[in-house]
Order: sequence, then C-alpha cells, then structure tokens
Amino acid sequence: MIVNKSRKPSKEKKLKYCLEPGCGKEFLGYAVAKYCDFHRVLKNRDYKPPVYSEVDINNVVFKHKYRDSKEIEMECGFPGCNKLYRILVIPKIHVYPKYCEYHRNAWKRGLEEKGE
Ligand SMILES: [Zn+2]
Ligand SMILES: [Zn+2]
Repeated sequence: MIVNKSRKPSKEKKLKYCLEPGCGKEFLGYAVAKYCDFHRVLKNRDYKPPVYSEVDINNVVFKHKYRDSKEIEMECGFPGCNKLYRILVIPKIHVYPKYCEYHRNAWKRGLEEKGE
C-alpha cells in the first residue's frame, strides 16, 4: 500500500495531456494531475500495482518513479504478517527491506544462529 502524503499547494490549472496509454486527451489540471477526468478514476485505468521482485532474503526491488525522497508504507513480506512499515524511498534506488522491523531482525538473528 502506498500512502501519498505530499501536499504541494498548486492552484494553477494548466492544459495537460492524459498519460493513460491510448488516451492522450487534453484536460485542464493542476501540476500534479496526470489523467483526464475519466482516467483519474483508478478502475478506468490500465492500472498495475508496483512490481516487486526479490533480490535477497531481506530485500526486494521496488520499482518506483519518485523524483524526491518520500516516506511510504510497505506491507511486511513475512507470510502471515501484514504489518505495515515505513521506508524512505530514494530516487533511483530500487532495493528496499522486505520485512517490518520485527521480522527484519528476527530473520537476521535466525541466520546468525545457524552460523551461516
Ligand atoms: Zn484519459
Ligand atoms: Zn512482519
């Protein structure tokens, strides 16, 4: 889950083009607007959730396009744990912890105990 907490006040509407592939409709929107009225509704879009793939036992690749550092919430990847944890997403960095703080440490401890 991604919580967008950016609150950049921008009152100026501009002529923009919808970014939905195959649409490209002109609309008047604020600087942050990316879609026409129709495609602003998520179910009308060809929406794909963020792609995660595992890089190692503790980390995942999180493809994002943030251009500023931003704190977002991720769901713990440990089976049965749905705890949300916060990560700081950094531009051009795509590897992030996969688990909540608790499981991150539990996991590491478990590995050390095995002596590997
Ligand atoms: Zn559109
Ligand atoms: Zn967890």
